[in-house]
Amino acid sequence: MRTALISDIHANLDALQAVLADIDERGVDRIICLGDIIGYGPNPLECLDLVMDRCAFAMMGNHDFAVLYEPTSFNTTAEQAAFWTRKQFEEEPDAGLRKKRYEFLGNLLVRKWEEGNLYVHASPRRPINEYIFPDDVISAPNKMTAIFDRIDARCFVGHTHVTGVFTDEPDFYPPADLGGAYKWGSDDKVVINPGSVGQPRDRDPRASYAVMDDEQIEFIRIEYDINAVVEKVKAIDELSDFLGQRLLEGR
Ligand code: ZN
Repeated sequence: MRTALISDIHANLDALQAVLADIDERGVDRIICLGDIIGYGPNPLECLDLVMDRCAFAMMGNHDFAVLYEPTSFNTTAEQAAFWTRKQFEEEPDAGLRKKRYEFLGNLLVRKWEEGNLYVHASPRRPINEYIFPDDVISAPNKMTAIFDRIDARCFVGHTHVTGVFTDEPDFYPPADLGGAYKWGSDDKVVINPGSVGQPRDRDPRASYAVMDDEQIEFIRIEYDINAVVEKVKAIDELSDFLGQRLLEGR
């Protein structure tokens, strides 16, 4: 079975559409979303509707949680974006659609096990909120041990917006160090991040996602019209211009 993994869309419709078009060309059996569908970007409703329509299942991200319930440990920019996003949901005139979207948000999964695979938005310990940074393999080896203790084989996460593979040595490998793909052994424990569709933070501004089968995962980057999104962000007072600017730099 071929599965496309998308994460951290962050209401960036232009990036999501470009990624979905590429997925359709490759022909996969299903799409899984690792969360943060909304928050930060200018098209939350369109992105949620697409994920609702196209994904087999989707995980609960901290920004999805923030819009549905409340922002926790958000900076001012993120909090303002969350409240603006909630307003978009509330101002939907079609009551049925409004309810359907809230229900979908409320039913996002916190953890999903599937044979050897665990899917979460952030980490196996704190599935909605804990960051697993590349630097943790050096600065926080005990944290990495505790994380690997909680998984059987493979764990798929988003949240940091940084694409790559964590091994239990512990070590971290960005796709460039892996030739763009990673093949796992049956006894390997790995944490894999497909990167962010809508707000990459690894200095490569192209949308990031991945396609996997039973043996390996391939990391894919897709160009899209970033300037169009920058302009949309600028036109919305409640969204800081920085949220557009950072897209240009992939940070
Ligand atoms: Zn995110």
